Amino acid sequence: MPLLVMKFGGTSVADIARIRNAAAKVKREVEAGYDVIVIVSAMAGRTNELVAWVNETSPLYDAREYDAVVSSGENVTAGLMALTLQEMDVPARSWQGWQVPLVTTAAHGAARIERIERAAIDAKFAEGMRVAVVAGFQGISPEGRITTLGRGGSDTTAVAFAAAFEAERCDIYTDVDGVYTTDPRLCDRARKLSRIGFEEMLELASLGAKVLQTRSVELAMRYNVRLQVRSSFSDEPGTLVCGEEEVMESRVVSGVAYSRDEAEVTLTSVADRPGIAAAIFGPLAEAGVNVDMIVQNISDAGHTDMTFSCPVDQVKRAEAAMLAARERGEVGFEALVADTNVAKISVVGIGMRSHAGVAARMFRALSGEGINIKVITTSEIKISVLIDRKYMELAVQALHDAFGLENAA
Ligand code: ADP
Ligand code: ASP
Ligand code: MG
Repeated sequence: MPLLVMKFGGTSVADIARIRNAAAKVKREVEAGYDVIVIVSAMAGRTNELVAWVNETSPLYDAREYDAVVSSGENVTAGLMALTLQEMDVPARSWQGWQVPLVTTAAHGAARIERIERAAIDAKFAEGMRVAVVAGFQGISPEGRITTLGRGGSDTTAVAFAAAFEAERCDIYTDVDGVYTTDPRLCDRARKLSRIGFEEMLELASLGAKVLQTRSVELAMRYNVRLQVRSSFSDEPGTLVCGEEEVMESRVVSGVAYSRDEAEVTLTSVADRPGIAAAIFGPLAEAGVNVDMIVQNISDAGHTDMTFSCPVDQVKRAEAAMLAARERGEVGFEALVADTNVAKISVVGIGMRSHAGVAARMFRALSGEGINIKVITTSEIKISVLIDRKYMELAVQALHDAFGLENAA
């Protein structure tokens, strides 16, 4: 039988009524002749609550126990979804990650999927089960411990199942009806895109558009999964994420993304000598700090300022790593100055490959609103700037207007 993967995010399974609503969509597909693998998230807010409990119990927690706790939200919704389907006379059962098994690396809190063993689920389908409900976001390490895939990881579970089971489609049901030119919660002129290419979606996701987890887009691109984002609450057509060759419209800029919780850290008066960047960024990487943008200022009398950005909740870790490196005599600097009130705004579009002037237009739009740019980075299909967080919404809206995105489709 043809097979579909349907993933329901937290708001789509936030209570029993919503689980029933989601189950009704699944039942429709079963009646249309599909076997279905349903991937569920935890109820909205539940994972945040579990994370907070872990932090309250143990600030420097054992990541294996963190995973044991935060993976549990999905166990509840998987069981409830299977029960709801059974109540609707749809033969269904639930599976936790370890039962499948979905085997991951042992990188707790950010594990990567290594393989999905199909045999047990295939056997149940062969016996007449029509829906396998799988708890998203979780797996089992080679050591036999429960792992999680990083926040938003159920999207990745869904795409991985779609690839492993050669599904006809992977439908991601969420609380918006597709991928928009920017977050529709921030800009009421945001427009839904009927299609978006894998590469652009990958950039938007990695630059903060949390509608899909970055890793899920990577996997979809690699295995050519037909990925669709659509609403749990309407029957509107969604957005197809597909190969660039299937996207008809040619746009210079397709979207604006933002990342709210960034920090800018500057080490002042660092000796400007060969090896200094390695001496700084080596220990930061070892401490698990995700450094994003880097700027080294012009050198004055053999000394320079080194600036980098990282997630705001990693500033303390960065500070500790730098003070320890200075203590060990590996790097000298005068002061470490952290600005924890910055945000990153990015414009993304494959049209940038062939069009000049995108950066100029972006900077003009920001300066027109009196917004100061602190750091700039570019790649082939995106430009990102760091600005004061208090201007974040204004910047997103100004850039959306500057690139005429209200006319996108
Ligand atoms: P789920 O719980 O279903 O996984 P998420 O909250 O993870 O849902 O992702 C959906 C949210 O992503 C939307 O509510 C929206 O606020 C946000 N979002 C950010 N950027 C975009 C975008 N470009 N298009 C659509 N949604 C976006
Ligand atoms: N429940 C997890 C989270 O909130 C995974 C997911 O919903 O995708 O991050
Ligand atoms: Mg999500």
